[in-house]
Amino acid sequence: MNKSNELFERRKKTVTNGVGVFVESTVAKASGAIITDLDGKDYIDLGGGIGVVNAGHCPPEVVAAIKDQADKFLHTCFHVSAYEAYVGLCEKLIKILPHGENTKVMLTNTGAESVENAIKIARQSTKRSAVICYSEAFHGRSMMAMSLTSKIKYKYDCGPFAPEVYRIGFPNTYHQQKNQSLEEFSNQELAKLDHFTKTYVDADAVAAIIIEVVQGEGGFNVAPKPYIEGLRKFCDDHGIVLIFDEVQSGFCRTGKWAAYEHYGVTPDLSTWAKSMGSGLPIGCVIGKQEVMDAAQPGTIGGTYLGNPVCCAAALATISVMEKQELNNRAMAVGDIVRARFEKMAEWADCIGDVRGLGAMIAMELVTNRETRAANPEVCEVLTDKCLEKGVILLKAGVYKNVIRVLSPLVITDEELQKALDIIEETLKEILGGAIK
Ligand code: PMP
Repeated sequence: MNKSNELFERRKKTVTNGVGVFVESTVAKASGAIITDLDGKDYIDLGGGIGVVNAGHCPPEVVAAIKDQADKFLHTCFHVSAYEAYVGLCEKLIKILPHGENTKVMLTNTGAESVENAIKIARQSTKRSAVICYSEAFHGRSMMAMSLTSKIKYKYDCGPFAPEVYRIGFPNTYHQQKNQSLEEFSNQELAKLDHFTKTYVDADAVAAIIIEVVQGEGGFNVAPKPYIEGLRKFCDDHGIVLIFDEVQSGFCRTGKWAAYEHYGVTPDLSTWAKSMGSGLPIGCVIGKQEVMDAAQPGTIGGTYLGNPVCCAAALATISVMEKQELNNRAMAVGDIVRARFEKMAEWADCIGDVRGLGAMIAMELVTNRETRAANPEVCEVLTDKCLEKGVILLKAGVYKNVIRVLSPLVITDEELQKALDIIEETLKEILGGAIK
């Protein structure tokens, strides 16, 4: 038995089953876009620790900043003794992600925590309680975040869920758009939202609408621009706080700091985590000052929020992203992946759709292009076989039938093309019957 198998045997005995295994791999070290496992095998990482290492594994500038801060102090609690790195990080975030004229920030540890706090802030600001969210959404595993999350498999027997959460259908162009222009489709979906607030929950009782403009776990579904523009207007008309969850789509993934920048629409609040800290647990809520400041002192915060080592990592990560122009690099990575997936779709009937924004690209696997029925079987075999051949690939979608690419953006063209060659070759083997 090799070292990786041995670790998995120990994992099985000690770690509770609920902590799922998404990819059966191990790691001894990681750098750039390469993960080396316990047996010395290298993998090209197209999963990026689920979208966390846009700036690469262990960027030297980030590692140095972590060490430097660790030498000074590890913790005081920001509520007790304030420090430079927290305030400096907030200043930087406001500069790159302004939410209107005056913007404020709170730091968190995780994406779920960012979402929890955004909802609390929206409720305090509107003095309302209802929240509207979407089908196929993923917002995290804490109780409010899980209540907002759509996929049932993520929440079996975990209820009762938070009350006053209402879900509407995501404007999914692949599955829902018929013979319509994007405008027509968006207007139809916005009319559904309007109807929803006549039949299920009064718009005047809604504190917030939360949406991922490009859904992550849901399968990289890109909301149409006219829909997001209409949603902004709907929220303005009804005094509703519009929240964009950028936890997966943020920090260069789509070729901009925020996916919403592609839409020319600014939210009232936005939620962040993942690639913000290159793997250290840090996230944030960014928002319009008047909304953010509605939260009363003591109602948001916590012991570890904005830990100084994590703040140092986040500041260094943003600096790496700027210096290496990772927004531009994301567009190039996205172009390569999209072109290769589209080429594969020319001969692979099981590829029903290739979609995404920037370097957030996915292909949806189907049993039939007409019915668009999910094909999780091919997806499973493809990810397993690619892993054997040294490529870490992640699935997504309610039916686990979407292959998504969240590679580090510092991946070289050579590494990326090699990984795509392996995906292509494996897909050919599966469809040709060489792999069952
Ligand atoms: N929101 C989105 C859009 C996410 O993709 C995720 C994580 N996949 C979360 C929230 C939750 O983040 P975390 O796991 O850090 O709590």
